[in-house]
Amino acid sequence: MNCCIECFVDPEVKSIISSSKTIGNCDFCHKQDVPVLDIDMDSIALTDLVNLFDGLLDVYTESTNLPDNYPRHKINMLKNILHDDWYIFNCDADTIHRLLVGICKERYESEPNLFNFPVGIVELSQEDYLNQFSIMRTYDWEDFLAEIKTQNRFHTDMFNTKVMDQFFEPMRKTLKKGSVFYRARICTNEKGFSPNEMGPPLAGVATAGRANSEGISRLYLADSIETTLHEIRAAAYDYVTVGTFCLHEDIEIVNFTMIDKISPFFGIDFTQQAINLKHLRRIGLEISKPLRRHDSPLDYLPSQYICDYIKSQGYDGVEYASTMYPVGFNLAVFNKAKLECVDAVVYDVQSLSYTYKRLSRPHGS
Ligand SMILES: [Zn+2]
Repeated sequence: MNCCIECFVDPEVKSIISSSKTIGNCDFCHKQDVPVLDIDMDSIALTDLVNLFDGLLDVYTESTNLPDNYPRHKINMLKNILHDDWYIFNCDADTIHRLLVGICKERYESEPNLFNFPVGIVELSQEDYLNQFSIMRTYDWEDFLAEIKTQNRFHTDMFNTKVMDQFFEPMRKTLKKGSVFYRARICTNEKGFSPNEMGPPLAGVATAGRANSEGISRLYLADSIETTLHEIRAAAYDYVTVGTFCLHEDIEIVNFTMIDKISPFFGIDFTQQAINLKHLRRIGLEISKPLRRHDSPLDYLPSQYICDYIKSQGYDGVEYASTMYPVGFNLAVFNKAKLECVDAVVYDVQSLSYTYKRLSRPHGS
């Protein structure tokens, strides 16, 4: 039986399959003439693949062997965990099951229950382990939110920064000198703004944003003119000046679009990564969540806290998905001097298109 590179999204697994240098048809996703690996024939590539998955499977314990106090809502079938929580496979849960059974044949013979019954992570019930290795220690995101909103804003111990540090490395991205980004400002007439008026608000008067507390100035940019027009929520018949910003030097940023796609084979301890997947996903949502007009400035606190911490670790900024224009991304740069506005062009917004969904009728009607 052949599996192929199209069955997976994980770069490490894809590279192992490609190393077998065989083109053929896949027996799992049925793609044709693609790089494949025969999982019934001994090879170095197959051994490498089995070793990768063996390490990951060691994280999980069949539910009947979990401690009595193990939270039952935290058990699930292995195929569902691999489908829902990890970014490894490019197929449905049942195909994942067939792939795993095919690749990890010996493991399946010795521990069939691991594949066929719900599993959990023993360490999730161990307070000491969580205190040491979980980003949220023994707390939930909601506890952290309440803490920095209402109790302790600057010195909370709930967020385990030492653990978070190791996840920044696989999200690190270098933006090259000469790269171009865009920033838009709505203007009152078609004369618009000059390039030297396109920078961020000055420190001291900047209002709070996703990546900055009130008074701290950050340069918010987008990858394209379309993204920046969506991000400032330009209305019909607005005049908008779009500034083109060019990077003076290479900068290192944390790319939050990768936060739920970190390979389990990057080199982080499997169990430490597994127990933090839920927290990482929540942080990713928090950084890129759409901001509504009537949101309280306190709602920005978690992402401001994380962005300030990233700055303290020497990074130059953060990248996150645009919720206003899903194919685009945004950038918050901590030091505006790393870029220069080299051009500014005025646009006239001709029309908008709205996408919406029906929720409910107001109460009482
Ligand atoms: Zn395939």
